[in-house]
Amino acid sequence: MEYDITLLQGDGIGPEVTQAARMCVDAVGEANGFSVYWDVQPAGDDAVKKYGSLLPEQTLDSIRKNRIALKGPITTPVGGGFRSINVELRQKLDLFANVRPIRTFEGTRSRYSNIDLVIIRENTEDLYAGIEFKEGSKDAKDLIRFVKLKACKEVRKDSALAIKPISSFASRRIAKYAFEYAKAKGRKKITAVHKANIMKYTDGLFLKSAQSLARNYKSIEFESKIVDDMCMQLVVKPDKYDMLLCPNLYGDILSDLCAGLVGGLGMAPGGNIGKSAAIFEPVHGSAPKHAGKNDVNPVACILAAAMMLGHIGEHKAQFELESAVAKVIKEGRKVTYDLARGKAVGTNEMAVEILKKIPK
Ligand code: NAD
Repeated sequence: MEYDITLLQGDGIGPEVTQAARMCVDAVGEANGFSVYWDVQPAGDDAVKKYGSLLPEQTLDSIRKNRIALKGPITTPVGGGFRSINVELRQKLDLFANVRPIRTFEGTRSRYSNIDLVIIRENTEDLYAGIEFKEGSKDAKDLIRFVKLKACKEVRKDSALAIKPISSFASRRIAKYAFEYAKAKGRKKITAVHKANIMKYTDGLFLKSAQSLARNYKSIEFESKIVDDMCMQLVVKPDKYDMLLCPNLYGDILSDLCAGLVGGLGMAPGGNIGKSAAIFEPVHGSAPKHAGKNDVNPVACILAAAMMLGHIGEHKAQFELESAVAKVIKEGRKVTYDLARGKAVGTNEMAVEILKKIPK
């Protein structure tokens, strides 16, 4: 059995962590009677240099054809420059569900133990829709006039503006995905996160959609929390939560917060799931100051690859890879700086140790 999988190595530490994950998938595949043809495609910095585009059409075509991809992090400039390639990939391929499991591995340096949470983040709308108007532009001025006319609100003339679209369609779609996920994985409770006390129409619609879907899933407990309270609750008693259902922006922020509960960004994998394709990636970014140093934790990307194996139906391989990761972290002898209690090893050395623990 051979799977064709698109591989986007990404920027910064991306090539190092994706190489580690690729080695592990090849090893667990060999042990389980399958192999992977890695269709390496350009995206981000390397794509601009070679093809003059951050996201060449051939990359999108490869993902559309293979329907599955493993992706390293891609750099996005802050406060200017090009738009996020990550957001563009999710929107172009309609990868509407972002699934981010957060789980304690014995041996990590964390203030908490026994955390087992899944964040389901809507991936296509909200302030990530990319509808922004530059301060002083004609469009911004027109919009400010429109707001005054329609909403009777004064917006300062030198404002930049962003639009936050939240639709009933996308809110119901992600809520349904979350409840079906809970049902399939035997999860008990979903907490919808919102700020509907202030954003009554947008977050209000997200919450109303989740509440209405909840009525069809009586066996799954449902509650909601205002996002600021949610942050506090997660820091004080994270073990009380099972699944969080979030609009795009809160889901992004809470994912990093939750990664911090289980040992940091090096521990958090994610999957972007749509009807016709899925992309798996670590939650962390390209960490440019670590690029090329072979020192970052490969686990987030390896766990993302393990999720990917589960997604294509290789559940035994997923379990074996996750177990191998757990063993290496528990032993704590060959782990990277963020997990080490004594001397740390490099990204590659930790990955080699993980693949040694995969049953032959
Ligand atoms: P980052 O996640 O890249 O790094 C923040 C810090 O977290 C690092 O300096 C490092 O100390 C730590 N860290 C991250 N990954 C780690 C790992 N695997 N092992 C150990 N420590 C790790 O966040 P940032 O610096 O805010 O973002 C850098 C770039 O990445 C930005 O351009 C941002 O837009 C981009 N980004 C991309 C994605 C993606 O591709 N999905 C996600 C987040 C950020």
